Amino acid sequence: MPKTIIPKKIPMPKQQPFERIKNFDEVALGFTPELARLEAERCLACKKPACVEGCPVGIDIPKFIGQIVEGDFKAGIKTLKERNALPAVCGRVCPQEEQCEKVCVLGKKNEPVAIGRLERFLADWEAASGSIEKPDMAPPNGKKIAVVGSGPAGITVASDLALLGYEVTIFEALHDAGGVLTYGIPEFRLPKAIVRREVRYVQSLGVKLYLDFIVGKTRTVDSLLGEFDAVFIGAGAGLPWFLEIPGENLNGVYSANEYLTRCNLMQGFRFPACDTPLKRARRVAVFGGGNVAMDAARTALRLGADESHIVYRRSRNEMPARLEEIENAEEEGVIFDFLTLPLRLIGDRDGWLVGIECQRMELGEPDESGRRRPVPVKGSEFIMEADASICAIGNSPNPLIPMTTPGLTIGKKGNIVADEATGRTSREKIWAGGDVVTGAATVISAMGAGRRAARSIHETLCG
Ligand code: FAD
Repeated sequence: MPKTIIPKKIPMPKQQPFERIKNFDEVALGFTPELARLEAERCLACKKPACVEGCPVGIDIPKFIGQIVEGDFKAGIKTLKERNALPAVCGRVCPQEEQCEKVCVLGKKNEPVAIGRLERFLADWEAASGSIEKPDMAPPNGKKIAVVGSGPAGITVASDLALLGYEVTIFEALHDAGGVLTYGIPEFRLPKAIVRREVRYVQSLGVKLYLDFIVGKTRTVDSLLGEFDAVFIGAGAGLPWFLEIPGENLNGVYSANEYLTRCNLMQGFRFPACDTPLKRARRVAVFGGGNVAMDAARTALRLGADESHIVYRRSRNEMPARLEEIENAEEEGVIFDFLTLPLRLIGDRDGWLVGIECQRMELGEPDESGRRRPVPVKGSEFIMEADASICAIGNSPNPLIPMTTPGLTIGKKGNIVADEATGRTSREKIWAGGDVVTGAATVISAMGAGRRAARSIHETLCG
């Protein structure tokens, strides 16, 4: 008998919008074992699985889904971890709709298999079971590696090399590890307990972690090379871009990095119980249309804003944020002002933001990004009331390491130039990967870069 396919993904249980905008708890609650098996049974177990090709780290997706169908969750998590050191993170934040799920055969006529939700299910099941799978480790080989940055790129390269017998030390500038996973992506999308668990796992492999250690200030890369056999730079892209319009020095004007860091890392939402203040604005305008903008707008609502606006110069179709996150923001009441460009930020006599002069746009021909170019509509200027604005239009790498590491080739956007297949830079013994090379990208692409660099470092140092 041919298999009857459930046409749609099994819905993920979620907190209701009216409840969740009052708290920072995770929005998506995860599958139960019954729901996970029901979803897994939708998989056609293709002989030539396109989903594996679509996964940047090549996870054997049909295998772990088959193991869920059989109820063998322990085997399933083992399959996942063969290729992915951070399944609980990737199951939550990877853009699966652009990767594995995009090419799922089922997706041609129905909705694709919810691969990300199943990945998350296995990782959460393992955490709840209390017994964490650790792959076999090679004996120590006497070689020492320094990793700069503890984001997904740094964590991946560190865990891969530790498993291969290297003595690995991570140097992290902030007082907590995890990179954007800790300071950028909010708790309601990625609980910090999960990131801490993943960091602890890497430490359990013997990786040492130094916090509050700014490479380029505390010690330079060259000084580390006096002690280590190789250095991997995974310092991310933490330098925010601004619109460069008048008024950006007013009070109440934030970059998304600052706003989210104050809230996530510094716990500013608990001020004055914590040291870091965060303005409780009534009307917030967030500039941008990516995941970062959605995170900032949804955070503003949870901090008590009456209105949280996304001000975006193109239309909904061109927004780079994940569809799931756009829908979550819509459900929560974020107001979308499409085809709108901020021209000037307006302050009161005391230097506090009170409004934004904007201009309406219309869509013209596609630009170099392939998206339709926004064109200003003459005479359409108007003033929008706002007491906080958050700029979420992009980031580039911090210039500190390039400035203090002579001989490192740097690209036009301040990125470290590294070979895509190996992560090798222009300097011997220095590798780099993740956002510091590509500019702001995704968790899984940073992890893929970490994995390729680990392989290249191993080939170079151990033959
Ligand atoms: P990072 O995660 O940035 O980590 C770099 C680390 O290096 C940081 O901890 C930093 O403090 C440290 N560092 C920097 N300089 C130094 C120095 N000189 N010395 C020591 N340490 C240093 N991607 C997705 O796939 N899905 C999403 O939903 C998603 N949402 C996002 C939401 C937000 C708000 C943001 C900001 C990004 C989001 N991204 C998302 C992008 C994703 O998080 C990044 O692409 C990814 O974290 C990059 O990993 P990385 O390891 O290269 O760098």
